[in-house]
Parts: sequence; C-alpha cells; structure tokens
Amino acid sequence: MHIDGLTTIVGVFGAPIMHTASPAMHNAAFEALGMNWVYLAFHVDPQHLRTALQGAREMGLVGLNLTVPHKILALDCLDEIDPEARKVGAVNTIVIEKDKTRGFNTDGSGFLKAVKEDFNLSIKGKRVLVLGAGGAGRGIAVKCALDGAAKVFVANRTLAKIEPIAREIASTKSEFQSLALTVDAIQKVIHEVDLVVNATSVGLKEGDSLGLGAELFSPRQHVYDTIYRPAETQLLQVAESAGAKVANGLSMLLHQGARAFEIWTKRKAPLAVMRRALRAAIYGDKS
Ligand code: NAP
Repeated sequence: MHIDGLTTIVGVFGAPIMHTASPAMHNAAFEALGMNWVYLAFHVDPQHLRTALQGAREMGLVGLNLTVPHKILALDCLDEIDPEARKVGAVNTIVIEKDKTRGFNTDGSGFLKAVKEDFNLSIKGKRVLVLGAGGAGRGIAVKCALDGAAKVFVANRTLAKIEPIAREIASTKSEFQSLALTVDAIQKVIHEVDLVVNATSVGLKEGDSLGLGAELFSPRQHVYDTIYRPAETQLLQVAESAGAKVANGLSMLLHQGARAFEIWTKRKAPLAVMRRALRAAIYGDKS
C-alpha cells in the first residue's frame, strides 16, 4: 500500500481496546478498485470523541466508522443524523464534508442483508426474538420492525434497557414484547419465533453459554449469532444439533461495511474481495 499526500483517508474510531478486521476489508476493496484511499484505525477515548472528530475534519478525512461506545456518544457530536440512525439510537458511519458531518447506521441494513444471504429469509411478516438490548440488539430489533416483522421480542438481562426499543417499535406496525433473558421466559415464546438472534456478548469467550438447550429449537427455525469469533458459539452448536439453520455474524460485518463503503465512495462495494479479506483477517483463511 502506498500512501501519499493525495491519499483519501477514512478511519475507524474505537476504544478502549480495538480488534477490528475492518481495515483489512476496506483496504482490500480500495486496492481492488484501484483507488488511492486508505482506511486507518485510531484509538480514541470516549471523552475525546468530539475533539477527535474535529481533528479528523481538520486533517481532511472523508469518513469514519465508530465502534462501541462511540456509536451512541456520536449522536450529540454530529451536524446531521440520518433518520434511521436516530431511530436506532446509534451512528456507526460518518461522512465528513467541508461544512458538516453526517451520521448513518449501517448495522441494521447489514443485518437484513446477512439473513437474506445466509438464510434466504426476508423479515417481512416474520416473528423475531432478539437476545440483547445493547447497541447491536437495539439496531437489529428496530430495523426488523421497520422492515415489517410481524412481531419482535427482545430479551435482555437488564430489563430497563429494553424500554427505548419498545418506544421506537411502538411507532411501527410490528407487535412487541419484552422479556427477561432467562431460560424460563424464553421457552414460553421461542416456539412462536422464526428467527432467533443473539446480540449479547455472551459467546465471545470460550465456554460462554446463554443456557438455552437443544429442546428449545426446531428445524423450521433460523438462528443468527452476531458473534463471528469464535466462528461457532455454543448457541449455534446447540441450535444446529436440533436441526435449526444457523449462521454467524461475519455476514453482518461484511454487509454493514459494504454499505459504509458505498456511502463514502458512491461506488459499488466489491463484496467478494471484502469477504475474502475479512475471512483472512478473522479466521486466517488463505482461499
Ligand atoms: P453492548 O452495547 O455493550 O451490549 C451488550 C449486550 O450484551 C447487552 O444486551 C448486555 O446486557 C448483554 N450482556 C453482556 N454480558 C452479559 C451476560 N453476562 N449475560 C447476559 N447478557 C449480557 O454491545 P453491542 O455493540 O450491542 O454488541 C453486542 C454483541 O453484538 C457483541 O457480541 C458484538 O460482537 C456483536 N456485534 C456484531 C456485529 C457484526 O457486525 N457482526 C456488529 C455489532 C455488534 P445488559 O444490557 O444487561 O448489560
């Protein structure tokens, strides 16, 4: 990679420890399209987000991604917020123009593309159970409701965090139900559900378990885990053993990135190149 004074820079702000495969994905895309662009990762403390954004603008960066917790903090630091990012309550993609900064959220659309690609599933008319009400859970639940899900269930350890999601979904046509993230509560509703999504961080560590047994799942169900490392969480193993169709979060990471790429560059994202770069960065695949 050659970087000079004419190179266009986009970046990702993350804190406090950032392990992201996004630079590999975006830089492979720029190279494949022969663009003199580079994607760089910056560690930014949350209390410095506003000044770092100002610095990015002064230095001529044209765009940014944000990781947790910047995604929520950015809502107060930008000139314009896309209506969907506002509803979802988080910004993961920023466009920096001369006179203004604009925030978008591509996680929700990335998720919908992912389940379409992995399961050939359209959310319209489906019943979806989202486990988790953090940034990812909220984005997925609200996007499913906006896309016409018949019913959205959200289960979370901290019930109060479901309230803003319930408020947002109340303005859509979807039914909504909140529940505790316990086996008892989940087993009462899971048989009604077409798609189960894990958007908690349970599964990131070896041996992590949500405690859901194979008896809760059936072959007509789809189970998506937003976690992509490890490639197969305990939830996916259990659901697969019951015959459910399963997929991990790599496809969501890919499609949120592809959408961000298109917002910054106004060019079609080279998906195959980006997927290969992600797989190499995350799993060490050489194919
Ligand atoms: P976040 O805002 O910090 O939310 C974390 C969520 O996990 C909350 O619902 C939290 O519940 C729950 N949680 C954490 N520890 C738990 C435990 N021990 N037991 C039960 N629940 C627990 O983080 P986030 O950004 O939403 O990320 C959540 C997950 O989504 C992560 O695994 C992340 O890797 C994944 N993700 C994937 C993609 C992708 O592109 N594939 C994109 C974004 C995120 P409380 O509210 O009770 O704390």
